[in-house]
Amino acid sequence: MAGDGLTPARNDGPAVAPPEPEAGQVTAEPSGDRRETIRANLRAVRERISAACETVGRDPREITLIAVTKTFPASDVRLLADLGVTDVGENRDQEAAAKAAECAGLPLTWHFVGRLQTNKVRSVAAYADVVHSVDRPRLVSALSTAAVRAGRALRCLVQVSLESGAESRGGAAPADVPALADAVAAADGLELGGVMAVAPLGADPAPAFARLADTAHALRAAHPAATIVSAGMSGDLEQAIACGATHVRVGTALLGGRQAIVR
Ligand SMILES: *Cc1c(COP(=O)(O)O)cnc(C)c1O
Repeated sequence: MAGDGLTPARNDGPAVAPPEPEAGQVTAEPSGDRRETIRANLRAVRERISAACETVGRDPREITLIAVTKTFPASDVRLLADLGVTDVGENRDQEAAAKAAECAGLPLTWHFVGRLQTNKVRSVAAYADVVHSVDRPRLVSALSTAAVRAGRALRCLVQVSLESGAESRGGAAPADVPALADAVAAADGLELGGVMAVAPLGADPAPAFARLADTAHALRAAHPAATIVSAGMSGDLEQAIACGATHVRVGTALLGGRQAIVR
């Protein structure tokens, strides 16, 4: 974690003393250090969420923290669950399917937050509770078929593109959101949860999140139960909360940097 600029950088280890082990307690795997790192990161992220809410007069209980665990092992998911995290997010089906299977039985809500190809939908529908990346009609019909076949109800968010021009980060153009939302709401096996977006790379996220808030507001007028606004990541969760985010998706700030993935 970066220094605060007020005190000289020191390396005294975690600021939080490890708890006294209780009698008979098994040492957390894979190491107590990892557990303490995640515990400290989780506390810091929760403090950021609380501070962001306080700034704009919101209640922190309105915010769901989704721990994005992509590239990190199932053992980290277990540690997060043990530390009280209830929601986890993944962005690649192959990795997510294996991890969800390893973590079956944990009281977790699984969020699929990555771009979704129709040939992965059947797999995703088996473990995901919420799909954040619905951005085209073909995906709605595929998800509906898969959810019905799996006997599950899938909550779907319409992903909104906040970029003008090339949609490098996925998502439907704002003008296409109402029709997509109607399609989700009408589809068997699917529930319309709300909207999701990723801020444009390298630009001020605030105006983009403000556009998302407008889209979310219009959606709620037509679908009052679609209250989810999934926005904000490690670098911009404060701006997202200021613009009405209900769900923040945080990876790096909880688990550390990821290795680049070569696809
Ligand atoms: C990886 C990812 C995140 C988390 O990003 P961090 O910057 O690591 O917090 C959030 N949302 C989506 C869609 C992601 O793919």
